[in-house]
Amino acid sequence: MRSTRRLAALATLGLALAACSSEAGTQAEESAENTAEVQEDVEFEAGTTMAELNEAGAITIGTKFDQPGFGLLNPQTGDPEGFDVEIAKIVAAELGIPEDGITWTETVSANREPFIQNGQVDMVVATYTINDARKQVVDFAGPYYIAGQDIMVAEGNPEGIEGPDDLAGKTVCSVEGSTPAQNIRDNYPQAQLVTYDVYSKCADDLRNGNVQAVTTDNVILTGLVAGSDGAFELVGNPFTEEPYGIGLELGDTDFRNFINDVLEESFEDGRWADAWDRTAGSITGEEAPEPPTVDRY
Ligand code: GLU
Repeated sequence: MRSTRRLAALATLGLALAACSSEAGTQAEESAENTAEVQEDVEFEAGTTMAELNEAGAITIGTKFDQPGFGLLNPQTGDPEGFDVEIAKIVAAELGIPEDGITWTETVSANREPFIQNGQVDMVVATYTINDARKQVVDFAGPYYIAGQDIMVAEGNPEGIEGPDDLAGKTVCSVEGSTPAQNIRDNYPQAQLVTYDVYSKCADDLRNGNVQAVTTDNVILTGLVAGSDGAFELVGNPFTEEPYGIGLELGDTDFRNFINDVLEESFEDGRWADAWDRTAGSITGEEAPEPPTVDRY
């Protein structure tokens, strides 16, 4: 089942690329053909978040808007595209909510917990590392992917940065409220950390020489390298584990269990791998890895 779906997705991708590789909007058209099948007749126990969302036919989802491959706003459609977006659509579809019932809200790293806590979003799918500090204030389904902190430098690596120890005395950019920024503060205090609200601003700083390196998850950096026209390169030496979870309101165990079930099904039936192939995988050229094991903590 899984390999059949993947082959079908790859064939579609090939046709779409062959047909209109030069046209903008290719990715949008292609993902429209592969949209998750919306459950028409699902029923949920009254009073649950699932029942409420299903009844409303609407959900508000927080994601990134400036991270190629995971969550990147398409200015033509006004909607974000990427692996996180596809994972979110799979969950929405299982709630009986079609794509036009989804309101996408940009959640930058620092506002993910507050947006969940004050109900501005129903869930967050945004390269969001599951960790104990965050579990104090929100709950996580997943993980659905394991990334690792890495470093991006200017093409040719002029400073010879091979790992985090080489950041001593160098300027390195990351994002406020992210685990990579915290890791630099806690464990590499000799590095001069510059922070912004979003990673695209770090990329701008690297491009114009304001900083010597950018650090965050390898998969985010890979997307920025791919979009840099050869200006950047990835060091390629990940030094942490960043298990990506779907953030939701603390204590909503039914909703968390439901999302965990959906994730596990998508790992099994190939929807997860299809989503990877059409998004982050099409940037890296790498096959989808083995899906991680869901942690029902
Ligand atoms: N996964 C890390 C985090 O959740 C870094 C990526 C990000 O900032 O979104 O903080």
